Amino acid sequence: MEYFDIMSQACKDVALPFNEDTYNKFSQYKDMIKVWNEKINLTAIVDDEQIFKKHFIDCIKIFKFSPLKQAKNVIDIGTGAGFPGIPIKIMKQELNLILLDSLNKRINFLNEVVSKINLNNVETIHGRAEDFSRQPKYREQVDVAVSRAVANLAVLSELCIPYVKVGGYFVAMKGPSVDDEIKDGKRAISILGGKIDDIIKINIEDSDLDHNLVIIKKVKETPKAYPRKAGTASKKPLK
Ligand code: SAM
Repeated sequence: MEYFDIMSQACKDVALPFNEDTYNKFSQYKDMIKVWNEKINLTAIVDDEQIFKKHFIDCIKIFKFSPLKQAKNVIDIGTGAGFPGIPIKIMKQELNLILLDSLNKRINFLNEVVSKINLNNVETIHGRAEDFSRQPKYREQVDVAVSRAVANLAVLSELCIPYVKVGGYFVAMKGPSVDDEIKDGKRAISILGGKIDDIIKINIEDSDLDHNLVIIKKVKETPKAYPRKAGTASKKPLK
C-alpha cells in the first residue's frame, strides 16, 4: 500500500473515488508491467514509484477533462502498455473501452491484464488506427478518443478524430511543445471535423512535468477521404 496516499490524492484532485480494490488493480497491473517488460519492450519506466507517478497518475489526470466521466464508449489509439486506456477503465469500470495498437505483443499483454484484473467490456484491436476507422462498426462511434505519446497533433488527429461521433471529443495528452503542435495541427483538425475546445494544464504531485490535455470537439462529420491509406498521415501530415 506504499503508493496508496499519492494515488488517493491524485484521484481527489480529479474528484473521483479511490479505494483499496482500485489500488489493488493498479498494483497488480504494475507487477505485470514489470514481469512482461523483461520479455517484451513495454516501457522505459520500470521503477515502482515512477510507474505510479509517470504512468498511473499522469493518466488519471485525464479526468481533469470532466466530460470523460460521463462517456460510455472510449477508444485509446496507440495504447502501448495500456496508457491512458487501462487507468481510465480501472477508474470508471462501467465504460466500454477499445484499446488499439499496431504491435501484437503489446495487445497480447493487454489481453492478459484485462483478464487478470477482471475488467469487463474491453475490446483489444491489433492493427493500424487508419485501417479500422473506415469500417462502419468503428467510424464515428465513440464519445471520446484518447491518445498519449503516439504522434504530433497534425498526424494524430487523422488517426483519432474519425472514430469520434459528432458532438464527442478527442483528448490528446501532450507535453511542453503543445503550442507549436496546435499551430501546426489546426488545419488538420478543422479538415477532419474537429475544433479546439480547450487546453487543460495538468499538474502531477511532486513533479515538474509540463503536461497538457488538448481537448478537441468533433463539430462535423469527417469527410469520407479520411483517414488516408495507413502511413500517409505521418508521411504527409495535413497542414
Ligand atoms: N500510449 C502509450 C503510452 O503513452 O505509454 C504508448 C506510447 S508508444 C510511444 C506509441 C504506440 O503507438 C506504440 O505502441 C505503437 O505501436 C503505437 N502506434 C503508432 N502508430 C500507430 C498507428 N498508426 N496505429 C496504431 N498504433 C500505432
